[in-house]
Amino acid sequence: MLEPNKDIIIIPDVHGRTFWKEATARFPEGEFVFLGDYLDPYYIDEILNHITSESALNNFREILAFAKDNPGRVTLLLGNHDCEYLYGRNVCDCRCDDARYDIIRRLFRDNKDLFEMAAEARLGKKHFVFVHAGISIEWMDRHVEGWTPDNLVGRLNTLNREALSSERPEDSPFASALSERDRERSGDLDYASPIWIDAETLNRGYQLCDIYQVVGHSAIRYMEPVITSRVFYTDCMKALRLDEDGVLRNLDGKRCVNRDKNPFAPMANGYDCHLFGDDAFSRPYCRTCGSHNIYVRGGVMADHWYCRDCGKDEVI
Ligand SMILES: [Zn+2]
Repeated sequence: MLEPNKDIIIIPDVHGRTFWKEATARFPEGEFVFLGDYLDPYYIDEILNHITSESALNNFREILAFAKDNPGRVTLLLGNHDCEYLYGRNVCDCRCDDARYDIIRRLFRDNKDLFEMAAEARLGKKHFVFVHAGISIEWMDRHVEGWTPDNLVGRLNTLNREALSSERPEDSPFASALSERDRERSGDLDYASPIWIDAETLNRGYQLCDIYQVVGHSAIRYMEPVITSRVFYTDCMKALRLDEDGVLRNLDGKRCVNRDKNPFAPMANGYDCHLFGDDAFSRPYCRTCGSHNIYVRGGVMADHWYCRDCGKDEVI
């Protein structure tokens, strides 16, 4: 259980990016919850922000060192990309660092005790559960016997720990449970595991009453998190702060907006991604004229970007 009297800083999917460092510098006494997916940069970040698989690995080593230097104050959760190394490719077959696969797997397994599947905090009267993608009731019913809202975090972490201590974690029942995915993520189920469930699926009805979930995994295309009545979708490439009353804020203290109505609607301008707009740590520029005034279409899966100053228009 995270301590309720400290700022909880949420670090959504890193994927090689360094925005987490601004948060650790600004909140030296904070508690940090990394929501997982540390490696495997997006193609768009490689092109626009020069994040390479190698720089992502070095960044991950820095995160591990930060966690070790601050015991009890840093929670590292596991995402699907992390489980691809830790549990194997049956669990996740996303883009992955083939060249360094064995090195990264060893790094994860040598540090397996640093990682959890979920974490929780009670803030005000609210019970928060932090997990990479989200908790679906159906998945829990199938794989976690006797779970309740009060024991689910402990149960998930125990199952993870037991599976990782086995001779071959990749062959454990927990690994195959983790591999279950919904149709939005090229699976064939209505639900998915806590490292896979897509925001759209979770938002359709797998929310847990009385629990507020804080999740990453599904890239949010507004530069701001999407808050609904029970789920905070935070994968917007920046750190966020959950205050002692359970209010989600950006690092400057500005309250995040509730988008309960039609939470995943595209932006009015048709370009549904302002992901790279003003992030000081990953601010892209036009490679033709140097302007930062660029738009990217297609979110982090961007397939097209253009520069509003010089008109450079490029299909990636
Ligand atoms: Zn993910």
